[in-house]
Amino acid sequence: MSEGVRLHPAIDGGIRQGSDTFAGGTLVCHCLDKPVKVRIEGQVVHNHACGCTKCWKPEGATFSIVAVAPTDKVKVTENGDKLAVVDPSALIQRHACKVCGVHMHGPVERDHAFKGLTFVHTELSRETGWQAPQFAAFVSSVIEGGVHPSRMGAIRGRIREIGLEPYDCLSPPLMDALATFAARKSGVLKD
Ligand SMILES: [Zn+2]
Ligand SMILES: [Zn+2]
Repeated sequence: MSEGVRLHPAIDGGIRQGSDTFAGGTLVCHCLDKPVKVRIEGQVVHNHACGCTKCWKPEGATFSIVAVAPTDKVKVTENGDKLAVVDPSALIQRHACKVCGVHMHGPVERDHAFKGLTFVHTELSRETGWQAPQFAAFVSSVIEGGVHPSRMGAIRGRIREIGLEPYDCLSPPLMDALATFAARKSGVLKD
């Protein structure tokens, strides 16, 4: 056991696998009064722990847990007037609740390999059966979030201990998708 290493409450006790027949669920922000609700139809994909400083994470967590769903399967169903885009210049248009600060949905609308996908945090839903995290991304970036570099060995060790692979960017399939998009755009890749 790697004592004292806290990644995120949803995975600190181990990974709980998702359900192949999961039909979707509703994300709810942390407001007690008039919470924002976002409905996701069907399962998410590429769920992962993320060490970057931009993704929303709960208090005390070192990593966020973030997945994607097709944007047309993600609908704001209640109190959408409380949402505002955190950084309009960012690739991911993270819509956060102006009151509690939780990020509710983050579509990619720009010309990009991830266009048409929306980033979501399934921990905001009470339903169980969401896809489990598949890997940890941007692990080195937790240092930018305030983690001392001397703790990185223990953090990567703990990530492997719960069965995930730590990457300092995205996973190889996602990095390949980004490179493929760039190669098609430049014309060097023709098929
Ligand atoms: Zn809220
Ligand atoms: Zn992130």
